Amino acid sequence: MKKKGIGLDVKAPSKACADKNCPFHGEISTRGRIFSGLVINDKMAKTVSVSWGRKVHVPKYERFEKRRSKVKAHNPECINAKKGDVVKIIETRPLSKTKNFVVIEVLGQKTKKETLKEEAIEAADVLEKQKVKISKDDKESKANMKDVKAEKKEKTTEEKKEPSTDKK
Ligand SMILES: [Zn+2]
Repeated sequence: MKKKGIGLDVKAPSKACADKNCPFHGEISTRGRIFSGLVINDKMAKTVSVSWGRKVHVPKYERFEKRRSKVKAHNPECINAKKGDVVKIIETRPLSKTKNFVVIEVLGQKTKKETLKEEAIEAADVLEKQKVKISKDDKESKANMKDVKAEKKEKTTEEKKEPSTDKK
């Protein structure tokens, strides 16, 4: 029997595809949680990383802290979401070790402000990953600094000695 839709209020893609993991043209069924987020990585084959912000209440400070969720989602060929697209994703059965969602609609493009924000977040992530490396390098550089300081002290003592000999 031909599928009429996926039981959700979303626009069906105009293109058809032969992807068996496509909710519109394949055998996959959707259930569970729905999110909309930004595609931050489209380098994988038929997979995108989708990220969105959420706020978590911190009782001690009576304020909200910003947190981000990031999941991998299947990207069917008929939808073909690109980096920078705002997409709607829905939970499905596990499609791989880390992929439990599927893209069902492209809602639009992000604004310039959001682009800058995302780039800043990505840069911060990279910095955090490098922190471990930097801390190791720091120890080495500090050790080098000590050597330099020791050398400088030797030089200064030598310089001090020289003028005193001239005066005599
Ligand atoms: Zn499809």
